[in-house]
Amino acid sequence: MPVTTPAARAAAPPSHTAVPQDFGALARQDPEIGGILLAEAGRQSSTLQLIAAENFTSPAVLAALGSPLANKYAEGYPGARHHGGCEQADAAERVAVRRAMSLFGAEHANVQPHSGSSAVLAAYAALLRPGDTVLAMGLPYGGHLTHGAPGNFSGRWFEFAGYGVDPDSGLIDYTQVRALARARRPKAIVCGSISYPRHPDYEQFRDIADEVGAYLIADAAHPMGLIAGGAAPSPVPYADVVCATTHKVLRGPRGGMILCGVELSERIDRAVFPFTQGGAQMHTVAAKAVAFGEAATPAYAVYAHRVVAHARVLAAALEDEGFEVTTGGTDTHIVVADPGPLGVDGRTARERLMAAGMVLDTCALPYGDARGIRLGTAAVTTQGMDEDDMARIAALFGAAVREEGDPAVLRAEARGLAERNPPYPG
Ligand SMILES: *Cc1c(COP(=O)(O)O)cnc(C)c1O
Repeated sequence: MPVTTPAARAAAPPSHTAVPQDFGALARQDPEIGGILLAEAGRQSSTLQLIAAENFTSPAVLAALGSPLANKYAEGYPGARHHGGCEQADAAERVAVRRAMSLFGAEHANVQPHSGSSAVLAAYAALLRPGDTVLAMGLPYGGHLTHGAPGNFSGRWFEFAGYGVDPDSGLIDYTQVRALARARRPKAIVCGSISYPRHPDYEQFRDIADEVGAYLIADAAHPMGLIAGGAAPSPVPYADVVCATTHKVLRGPRGGMILCGVELSERIDRAVFPFTQGGAQMHTVAAKAVAFGEAATPAYAVYAHRVVAHARVLAAALEDEGFEVTTGGTDTHIVVADPGPLGVDGRTARERLMAAGMVLDTCALPYGDARGIRLGTAAVTTQGMDEDDMARIAALFGAAVREEGDPAVLRAEARGLAERNPPYPG
């Protein structure tokens, strides 16, 4: 990779770090941004990416994102566009829709939402009116911003009632969900979370929704990739509408998608365009098609199961290190742990882990006001790490959070682990 400017050279990652694309031309024309992109590639390949919502897309997905479809305006849907010259855009979107429907066994797919939040906005727009009541997981328990946060459209335009989890088990209390549904008579019930490490019981949610005459919206932004790989149950047979992101475990481009049955298909499509969005990002739609194609392979199913196996190993090893793992483990890629027994809260733990080269989030805990840490195994598994590596990561966690040893030494160990497993091997 030719790097010719001082700024780009200064920011260039070590020579053994493979970069998925040739940034040479960009770095020559615009050293300022070229240097930033190279530095980011270096950061991603020299620290441990444990943010539960992140992953490494394939070079093929990145190639579609960097393709000339980025130039194309294509408001509307295949065969019914508001612009000329949409032949290839139509073809790309038709492939993406066909692959999404077949991957998830859905009657209808809309692949245009710009993000997971845009997908949820469109689902609400299709099914609700402002002022309607919606029952969703409360934000202090792991609900997403789109599940009623005061600063989000959801909290401003709808009346949210929040269900929680049992403070001891950390599990959703379905008796409480049913009681709240009976008392509040919501127009829609949302299941899905940013930090719940177990599978929602979609059948129970469907039963509760039917009892009170509510729509069931599954916000499967996190587990959608596990569902694609057969490593998590699918909400598609139960929910009226399934919203998801394509960039989490699913390992596609940053974006959203919606699945539903034929009877809601027109309402969903109109809620995406023209109600909540203008022209779709056709390069992203093409990249989603590439990711759906990858997710349909046997290799991806193996990957999805490995993601869960790794999260279980990591959860058990973190418990051995003294962390309190919520719900006692995980069924997914997500592990939520309370570092309280080690004498610190989530924020301090995150800072110490960051200083040791491990990148992750804090999150709410099922009990009390202290924050925990939330991590996921999607990215490190894509890199090819194994169960022994998970045990090493847990040992690094224990040492970093307890401040045992020099953070620089821990950082070098984390770096070695990352660099032995390059996300984009050359
Ligand atoms: C990630 C996530 C979203 C939003 O996705 P964005 O692409 O960040 O808008 C929505 N709901 C849940 C449950 C999520 O985990």
